[in-house]
Amino acid sequence: MRITKNSVVSFHYTLNDPEGNLLDSSAGREVFSYIHGGSMIVPGLEEQLEGRIAGDSVQAVIPAEKGYGEIDPQLLQRVPLDKFGGQQVEEGMQFQTPDHRVWSVLEVKDGEVTLNGNHPLAGVTLHFNVDITEVRDASEEELAHGHVHGPGGHHH
Ligand code: ZN
Repeated sequence: MRITKNSVVSFHYTLNDPEGNLLDSSAGREVFSYIHGGSMIVPGLEEQLEGRIAGDSVQAVIPAEKGYGEIDPQLLQRVPLDKFGGQQVEEGMQFQTPDHRVWSVLEVKDGEVTLNGNHPLAGVTLHFNVDITEVRDASEEELAHGHVHGPGGHHH
């Protein structure tokens, strides 16, 4: 069957940036599974998997706007170091604000901390290599729960 809305799709993938650096991969892990049409994966990949079948290998190049979005300059902020209440702040640290946004520390310099609240892959063109392993219809229960059950999904 072909991938269409409410298909449960399982695949292995590698994700590289345009320079060929590996960003993420399912190698050595369970397959990744999602319900097609539910915005569970980035929109550009969902578009390019539409109509594919199990066994297909898909090379998808996805611009940032259809991936994790463009970089929002308003989410690049400088905060005085003394706002951190004396705790150790170092480049690469991450923390979450009450709105669930994850911020990364880009730089600590001259008593100021530069923070990035964008997704780490915002602004990045995504190069996916996807090997589709299974395509099936979602069950009523999966659609009601909004997630996949069984391999690559929830176990409950
Ligand atoms: Zn469930």
